Order: sequence, then structure tokens, then C-alpha cells
Amino acid sequence: MSKSKSGRVFLVGAGPGDPGLLTLKGARAIAAADVLVYDYLAAAPIVALARPGCEKIYVGKKAGAHTLAQEEIAQLLIRLAGEGKQVVRLKGGDPFVFGRGGEEADELAAAGIAFEVVPGVTSAIAAPAYAGIPLTHREHNTAFTIVTGHEDPTKPESTIDYARLADPHQTLVFLMAMGNLATIVAKLREHGLPGDRPVAIVREGTKPSQETLVATLDTIVAQALRSGIAAPAIVVIGDVVRLRERIRWFDTNPLFGKRVLITRPAHQAAEFAARLWEIGAEPLVVPTIAIGPPDDPSPVRRAIEDVRLYDWIVFTSQNGVDAFFRELARGGGDARAFGKTSVGAIGPKTAQALRRHGIEPDFVPARFISEDVAEGLLERTSPSDRVLLFRAQAARDVLPERLREQQRHVDVVAAYKTTLVREDDFDAKLAAADVVTFTSASTVHGFAAAAGDGMLAAVRGKTIACIGPVTASAAREAGLHVDLVADEFTVEGLLETLERSPA
Ligand code: SAH
Repeated sequence: MSKSKSGRVFLVGAGPGDPGLLTLKGARAIAAADVLVYDYLAAAPIVALARPGCEKIYVGKKAGAHTLAQEEIAQLLIRLAGEGKQVVRLKGGDPFVFGRGGEEADELAAAGIAFEVVPGVTSAIAAPAYAGIPLTHREHNTAFTIVTGHEDPTKPESTIDYARLADPHQTLVFLMAMGNLATIVAKLREHGLPGDRPVAIVREGTKPSQETLVATLDTIVAQALRSGIAAPAIVVIGDVVRLRERIRWFDTNPLFGKRVLITRPAHQAAEFAARLWEIGAEPLVVPTIAIGPPDDPSPVRRAIEDVRLYDWIVFTSQNGVDAFFRELARGGGDARAFGKTSVGAIGPKTAQALRRHGIEPDFVPARFISEDVAEGLLERTSPSDRVLLFRAQAARDVLPERLREQQRHVDVVAAYKTTLVREDDFDAKLAAADVVTFTSASTVHGFAAAAGDGMLAAVRGKTIACIGPVTASAAREAGLHVDLVADEFTVEGLLETLERSPA
């Protein structure tokens, strides 16, 4: 029974928008996929889980773009799986809740293609939840019903039983209802639901662009018109809507809806971006620097061979740690290379990177600026001790100078090089941003180079937030106004400072 690898289709629910709501199983399927078939509802961080060689096929319905009809999508899935591929068909929310996933599964089954369904968090539940509306509450209802507001257009007449829906003991959730809102409301009134029954429309639920409109059956149509609220939105009808007043939580975060520019290198942006999503802010990732190998790699190699000859080795960033262990592994070495040499780490992220390689740093300064680090190292060393600094090419010289003043023998190795980059969408993202963040002096330099002469006009009215005093003075030197400096010099600290005094 020898056979080439057999194909399989995973119908994966991507959730309603917040990428954190993707399931672990869905994330694993995406990471293992040969092909990702997705539409525009899929958030960028979810698509980014695919491995580099993964083919991505867009079949969304964005206006103007070429799209595939439903039958063509099923045929595409069948063909790809027939070629032996692992295919992920990513669908918004839950694939089997008004997502036509049932039709796709049916076609796959008929074609004899193996498939699995990975349920997702449906917008029917998540959008109200993020608006502070629980679909059930013991005091208010004993059931909820999820209804489509947009029936198959080929059906001769509606099969929605409004008489049954007009029951005060249940919550109603309509999807795809914005086009027919007036008709739906009129039918429910006709069948006896009172005009003062609370209604909420939640648009773009779980996203930084989430909007919620609360009214009553009698007023919702006029208010929706006036506010211009449009699809994609869900409509919730029931007494539970009133709970929003007390338990709304997502859209109350001071950073909710704010667009935050992240200028740090692409490989370090993901965690920052994920934290922003969690608090309802929209990350705009536009790296202004990139990290690459130093011009001359031989000092790194020599330093690694000689690391045991030093009393201390100090890493100033995660990049240095990565460069060290990459080169160490290339030479067949491992963490034993350190011998008895003490290890210093500047910043908790640098310490974490060392721990991942089995090294517990002997010294992590409480504050992450060169002056403090120098004091801490001086306390722990004696004159003529040998210190190896593993850091960026072209970094500040404060630290080695302080140490040398006190007769420490210091070798500085350029472990990696920072280059300035300018992405094509730099201008557009900068224009959209409410907050601009800098997490190192180099990100400021990259930003200034990318923004060019128009920099001051481009940042006018925006909040500029820096991770620490060194970064802040680099920003001021570049001519920028600095609104916020983090109390703790980490991304987490930067976020906390921003949350306390947002844009
Ligand atoms: N399978 C999806 C629903 C697909 S139908 C799910 O389980 O969520 C598309 C409809 O879903 C939209 O018209 C809208 O009514 C609703 N919808 C999808 N994402 C939404 C969101 N983030 N906020 C509000 N409604 C959303």
C-alpha cells in the first residue's frame, strides 16, 4: 500500500477578529499547512503563523478584488488536497456557523477527501462578549437563538419563524442583518415583541475598530441610519443588552482603538503587537531597523573560543545572545563554553534569552541604562578583571569607558549590526498612527531616516512614547517631542505608561 503523502483539508475557524481568539489546534494546523486558503477576515498575525514556504491563496470578497465563487472554492480545496497537500481553509468565526463550512465539508466528503473541522469562536458570541453583553443571564433569559438576517436569495420566501422568535424569554442574535434591519424589526414588532426591548449592534466586534450602538426595537433603525453603523455587525436583541452599562470592559481600556506604530525590528515586534491586540489597540508594525551579522564576524568567533578566559561576559540585548549561541552552535559548542565566567544581562528580555539556553545570569541590573550597569559591574569586579562586552556594532561607549576608568580590562565585540530600513508602507502607517513608539535609540535613527524632511509635520499631534531615557534623548536629539518615557524600561513598562496616559 505504498502511496504518496495523502492530502487533507482542515476547516479552521479563525475567530471573530482578535487573533488571540484562534484556538491552539487551529494555530497548529496553520503552522503545519502547505497551503492556506483564506479570505479578508483573517487577521495578519494569524496568516503569519504559516511557515515561510506555505502557499497562500486569497479567496476573499473584498470589493474590486478577484474572488472565487463558493463552488470554485470547494473545487480548489479538492484539487489541492488531491495533490497530497495539507490544506487549511481558514474561515471567519466558526466554520459551521453561517460560514458555509458545512457546504465545503459536504463537497469534500462527496469527493472522498479527508478533512477535519477545527471550531472557532463565533462572532455571534464573541462580539457581544467584547461589548459587555452576555447572551444568557439567569434573571433575563433561558435561551438564545442565532439567526441569519440574510437568507439564501434563491429561496422563494423567508423560512424564519418570527412568531417563535418574538419570545421575551430568549436573546436573539442576528448575523448579516444590516441590510434587512428594518424588515427584521418590523416583523418582530408585528409578532408582539415590545418596542422598548433593548437592541445592540456590535460592529467589528473584538477588534480595535469595534463599535457598539445601543437602542430599542422602536429606535434602532433610525439610530443605525443616523450613526452610519454598517456591516460586518451583529444585532443582539434582549434584556441582556442592558448589562453592557455595567460590565462593558473591552472598549473602556484607555488604549482601545488607538493605532500604535511599532518601529522595532520585525522579529521583535510580534510580542509587542500581540499585547496591543489584547488591550484593543491596533499595532502598526513598520520596522525602521533590521538586525544582521556584523561587518567582520571573526571577533565573534574568537570571543566565543576565548569566553572562559574572561571573568565576565555581558550581553546588552537579546540580539547579542542570539548571535552568540548561533555562532556557538555552528562550531559544535553549547552552554558549557561559559565555564566559570560570570554572565551579565542588560534587561529582562536579554536574561530570558540566556535562560532559554540554560544560562542563569549572575547579574541583571535593576535599571537598564549604561551608567547603572557600569556601577553594578564595578561592584562585582576588581581592577584588572577581564570583561567581555557582547553588543551591537556602533553602540554607545559609556559602559566600556566607565569600566576602563576603574582599571577593568574590557574587550568589546560587535556581535551584530543594526541597519536602517524603510518599508514601502512607512508613510501610510505613520499617517494612520495615534502613537509612535521607540524601543531603542537605533529605532529613532531609522525612523528619522525613513521620515526624512517631512518628519516633524508627519508626527504633529501624535503621542511619542520611548522605552527609556537613552531612547528619549535620542528622540529629542532627532528633533522629536517626547510625550512619554516608560517607568520600567521594557515593552511591558512602555505599555503600562501608555495605558496610564494615552494619546
Ligand atoms: N462563521 C462566522 C459568521 C460568518 S457570516 C462566525 O461564526 O462568526 C458573516 C457575518 O458574521 C457578518 O455579516 C456579521 O454579521 C458577522 N460577523 C463576523 N465577524 C464579525 C465581527 N468581528 N463583529 C461583528 N459581526 C461579525
